[in-house]
Amino acid sequence: MNTQAGPEAKPGVMDIDIYVPGKSAAPAGVRLHKLSSNETPLGPSPAARAAIADCAEHLETYPDGTARLLRQAIAEVHGVNPDNLICGNGSDELLSLIGTAFLEAGDEVIFTEHGFLMYRIITHANSAVPVVVKEQDEKASVDAILAAVTERTRLVFLANPNNPTGTYLPIEEVRRLQAGLPGKAVLVLDAAYAEYVRRNDYEAGMELVASSANVIMTRTFSKIYGLAALRVGWAYAPRTIIEVLERVRGPFNVNAMAIAAGAAAMRDRAHMARAVAHNETWIGWLTQELTALGLRVTPSVGNFVLIHFPDTRGKTAGEADVFLTQRGLILRAVAGYGFPNALRMSVGLEDSNRAVVDALRQFLGTA
Ligand SMILES: *Cc1c(COP(=O)(O)O)cnc(C)c1O
Repeated sequence: MNTQAGPEAKPGVMDIDIYVPGKSAAPAGVRLHKLSSNETPLGPSPAARAAIADCAEHLETYPDGTARLLRQAIAEVHGVNPDNLICGNGSDELLSLIGTAFLEAGDEVIFTEHGFLMYRIITHANSAVPVVVKEQDEKASVDAILAAVTERTRLVFLANPNNPTGTYLPIEEVRRLQAGLPGKAVLVLDAAYAEYVRRNDYEAGMELVASSANVIMTRTFSKIYGLAALRVGWAYAPRTIIEVLERVRGPFNVNAMAIAAGAAAMRDRAHMARAVAHNETWIGWLTQELTALGLRVTPSVGNFVLIHFPDTRGKTAGEADVFLTQRGLILRAVAGYGFPNALRMSVGLEDSNRAVVDALRQFLGTA
């Protein structure tokens, strides 16, 4: 074996903790309920599947590098100009492109203590400095973010609603945040769960993007649209920012199946409405039942709940995780998000939701 030291990565890269995705395996012979990655239990629109079958007939041709059909479908549904949209290989790619395009070594990137893990990875990958601000009651605090701004602040990442807490900031608060930022700082509103939110004071930020020069909103087809396997997301931004991101993306960064299926899924509003209605019913039920078991649940407007466990030995999140996994119930450990004693559970189909509550009742010994 070669014993020479290998080449060194640029500063920051080796500070990255490798992203660990939600588990997806149950013990042999046990039925799997995968509730670890906030996927939709209803699957994608049938129209999306049909679009993929069509695509499969033409795998020899490159996709349209501008993803025109997909941008058009998004533009129609959301009432925006397709020239203000850019698509990506998942919204994760778009978040990374934002880092690539805007960050220099030593720049500061602000995100909150329980924010999405990709923000820290993107910061280190660009030799930038993470500035992690405290949350208040498991919710981002605009005052804390603004207090952390310096002349080196280049990006602010805000997931709204946030993963893994499921909490959100009203649009008035997001506006106050934007108004307090210097013009050269880019505000990234990661609205991966926007479609699920049913609150009068919530908006994903479309109007704020349209009326500002420094705001980008990212969205995904991985969550409510059920296309996580294809990797497809989009961003809405002022033309000046789109022109920046266009320069750093790969020429064919969105594959043909993702373009076709994404467009079909976007247009199937009835399917989306069913997913919202299902979620609304079961997130309420889960919150109520889990609370009745004596567990604290962070109030969530997404399609998942953050469940906090007692510190008592035998009742901790780690022990609950083992107990649930043995029964094929796969939730997400969230120690990496600053919650060592909690589990995140995606809203599943009725039988999965009931199975988790029944198992936790047994686990806690209140059966
Ligand atoms: C799931 C998720 C994403 C999305 O990802 P894709 O790369 O589009 O699959 C982005 N942000 C948050 C907060 C998420 O939870």
